[in-house]
Amino acid sequence: MSGAVATGLWPVQSCGLHNDVRTAHRAVATTSIQIQLDKHVTQLLRCRRCPRMKSTPVSGGATVSDVMIIGQAPGPREPVLQRPFAHTAGKTLFRWFEGFCGMNEAAVRSKIYFAAVCRCFPGKNSSGTDRVPAPDEIRNCSLWMDNEIQILQPRLIIPVGRLAIMQFIDCARVVGEAVSFPYRLEEVIGRKFRVARGGHRFDVIPLPHPSGASPWHKIPPGRALTERALKLIARHPAVATLCQGRRR
Ligand code: SF4
Repeated sequence: MSGAVATGLWPVQSCGLHNDVRTAHRAVATTSIQIQLDKHVTQLLRCRRCPRMKSTPVSGGATVSDVMIIGQAPGPREPVLQRPFAHTAGKTLFRWFEGFCGMNEAAVRSKIYFAAVCRCFPGKNSSGTDRVPAPDEIRNCSLWMDNEIQILQPRLIIPVGRLAIMQFIDCARVVGEAVSFPYRLEEVIGRKFRVARGGHRFDVIPLPHPSGASPWHKIPPGRALTERALKLIARHPAVATLCQGRRR
């Protein structure tokens, strides 16, 4: 009985047709998401809402993905090179992904959507380090992130660094998990959280910031906890699916 399954009552077309229909639906949905995301990124790049920022926005491009990486804010190099994590922190981040997930920098950039707490370089403070974005700037830019979450409906978000983690791990957003606030990195790195934001629920697996400025991820207990987090990311179904070259 080729092409049909005997149920005892009625011949039912086998999964071949259903698979074709599902594939067609997925293609239409992905095209629609791509159109929305293209428009979103075009508008984001024109944003000039924060007058104290020292660069125009940096975007990783309109990569439709079930996984989002959230950085903190670009440094001085990223606006010039026009991509996030373009300098030393990026080197470490992409080495982590290559070592634990088997994805090199090109694969990560082409399969994962990059966002950030703020998309513009905040400038330097009086001590010569990068200025931490102000609350009003974070609020302004969170509208872009909320829109990205609504468009992509990600299954996994990976916030990188304390400022990015704080946007997701707080009492209001974590679903069914006990975290003390304010938290220490030791309490959140190496764990997976279920988080609600923008009317959507997703997993969050935080990473420490990979910049050379903090040795936290290189010394105990940060080193082991960072490895545990990267193993959680590698095993997450959304990442496994990405490695196979498809969405959900
Ligand atoms: S930080 Fe965000 S909200 Fe502010 S100007 Fe840049 S893109 Fe716009």
